[in-house]
Formats: sequence, C-alpha cells, structure tokens
Amino acid sequence: MSDDPIQSLYVHVPFCAHKCEYCAFYSKLPTNDLVGRYVDALIREMEMIAEDCAAQTIFFGGGTPSLLSLKQWRKILGAMKRLGLDGADEWTVECNPATVSTDKAMLLRDAGVNRISMGVQSLDESLLDRLGRIHSRKQVFKSYEILRSAGFENINLDLMFGIPGQDHDIWERTLTEAINLSPEHLSSYEVIYEEDTPLFEQLKAGQFEVDEDLVETMYERLVELAESNGYRQYEVANFASHNGNLGEDDNPDKACRHNINYWRGASFHGLGPSATGYVRGKRSKNWANTQLYCDLIEQGKRAFDFNEELSPLARAGETAAFGLRMNRGWRFDEFDAATGFDLRHEWAPEMEELCDRGLGLQTANGFRLSTRGHRLADAAGSSFLRIDPNP
Ligand code: SF4
Repeated sequence: MSDDPIQSLYVHVPFCAHKCEYCAFYSKLPTNDLVGRYVDALIREMEMIAEDCAAQTIFFGGGTPSLLSLKQWRKILGAMKRLGLDGADEWTVECNPATVSTDKAMLLRDAGVNRISMGVQSLDESLLDRLGRIHSRKQVFKSYEILRSAGFENINLDLMFGIPGQDHDIWERTLTEAINLSPEHLSSYEVIYEEDTPLFEQLKAGQFEVDEDLVETMYERLVELAESNGYRQYEVANFASHNGNLGEDDNPDKACRHNINYWRGASFHGLGPSATGYVRGKRSKNWANTQLYCDLIEQGKRAFDFNEELSPLARAGETAAFGLRMNRGWRFDEFDAATGFDLRHEWAPEMEELCDRGLGLQTANGFRLSTRGHRLADAAGSSFLRIDPNP
C-alpha cells in the first residue's frame, strides 16, 4: 500500500440551526462557546494529519458548514493555508440557503473553495415546512444568485423525492425549476426513514404511508428530465453536466471527484465529530459528541470512537458495493487493480442472482447494476459485503 500522502479530506461541521425531521446525521444546535471550541479543536486535528495529506479534493459537510461565522471561517481557512491544506483541485462546501451571504461566499471563493453544494430539498414551501427546513424557496434563488456573483462556477443542488405529501406534479415543478437554474450538478435522494428521526416515528405511528409506485415513477422522471436537459447520471443519485462526447463509462466533467474517490474505495482523512476516515485500509470514526471530541483533541489525542483494520477481502467487498452505486459499475481489470480480487471468482453467485432478477448486467469486461437495480443499490451492494471472521 502506498505511503504517499492521502489525497482526499472530509471535514464535518456538526452544527445546524434546527434539526430537520428526517435527519440522522450528527448535528446539534450551536452555542457560541462550543462552536469556538470546535473550531480550535478542528485546527489542532488538521495539524495532526497535515503531513500525511496532499488534498486534491476537500469536502466540508455537516451539519451546516455555512453556519460558521466569517470570523470562524477566517480562522479555519488561515490554518489550512499555513498547513498547506488549501489549493485542492476540487474544494466543496455545503451551504444551507438560509445561511449564505455575499461576504461569506466571497471569503470562501477567495480562499480557493470552488464548488458549493446547496441543500435545497424542495422548492415547495409547504414541503420545506414539512421537512423542518429553515429556508424558504425565495432564499434558494437569492443564495444561488449570490454564489454565482461571488464567482462559483460549479454548484450542486440537493433535492429530495418521496417526501410525505409530495405528489408527482410538485416533484416535477421542483425538478424543472431547479434545472432551469442551470446548476452544474444535481444530487437527488429518496427520503430514507432512519430510526430516531421524527419522520420515522410519524411513519411508525401510521400518520402517512409510503407509495412505492409513486416513488419509483418520481425516480424515473428524475433520470429522464436530468438526461434530457444535458446531465449525465454517473451514480444512483448524482447527475452532472458535461461537454458532450462521453463514452459509456466516462464520468461527466462536473462529476464530484471527492465522492467518486469514496465510491472507488480510495483513502481519505475524516476530521470533526462523527467523521469517518479510511486511510490505507484502516477505517476510523470520530466520536459523535462534540464535547468529547474537543476534550480529546485538546489533550493532544485523536478523537477516534473506533479505528479498525479490515481484512483485504472485507475491504474488497466494501469497495465492490460502493463502486456498484456508479453507473459504470466495475470493469473486472479495474476492480482487480483496486483490490487484488477478481469479482468473477469471489462474487460470481451474487452477480448471477442480480442478473437473474433483472437488477444487474454482466458483460465480458465488467458488471454493473441495471436502471432498476440502481433504486435498490443499497440492498444489491450489501450482498457483496464480506464479514471479517476475526474482527
Ligand atoms: S440541515 Fe442537513 S445536517 Fe442539518 S439537520 Fe437538516 S438535513 Fe440534517
């Protein structure tokens, strides 16, 4: 395994102004003291990994990174410059439309951030309310304009479908309005009912039902509208614009390189409370507790909840599952080069079963999920996982 510095960096900002009804990510309401402590701890954690990081891609996610103040951002960006962690080819910051300002957008752009991922979810006021989002549809358009004026030429819009109360027309309107803004990238996720979220409790209590057929047609419409408007789907939930002339296996120009890195099983450092990392076959997760995270980092320790080494086979199984989320799936030679395993040997029964069910497609050179298989990618991928006998 190469000793070269790791080329991807994820930073988790664990604060949100309000908890959305469906959200299972680790985030808390901010208090001034805790945000200040977090910023200092994050910088110390950056110092711990700086020598082993030559980031080509950086992603600030959350939580709500755009919630940090100008002063807090200046501190973080200054430290990244000092540590040589700036200057990535692709540097994304997630933004909530309610927390974008011209000053913040310009500060980020000037520091080298060149991609924004904006959590829109819906452009229907009543659904935004239903989801517990803090922003209005008006703020989406305003923030988008601010980001463009600040010089961002690569913007992703996050949308959701399958929201309780969302019918086909509402979804079509949101999709069309989002596409009319001409973002370079669209991510669109089906609502997932995660335990410990208010939406899950409402579903369990019978307050609404999930119409699987409706959700499936919403997904089909998403793929259709995105493709007919010049986007290329390259992953289950991700679409990007391109300059044409794409081969079947090519990723579109504006595909998110940071996420592709995850799906191809490459290494990345993960910083901040609850962040996962994957470095040379070792998978780690920081404590999902900002106080504890700060305590440990302040004592000069890493803040790992766990740090485990996977067996080569378990690692290859995860890589297979993640990679199948991408439209290109795996070419057999590519998978072999990435993991040292041959998909055709270890996973022949799983591939055969998926093909029999119409969820997978095997050719002489590789294996991929079918369009139907994409909607069931999590279940399909999980059959490729291999449990370590001696974890
Ligand atoms: S803004 Fe994002 S991270 Fe924060 S609560 Fe909502 S979905 Fe979760």
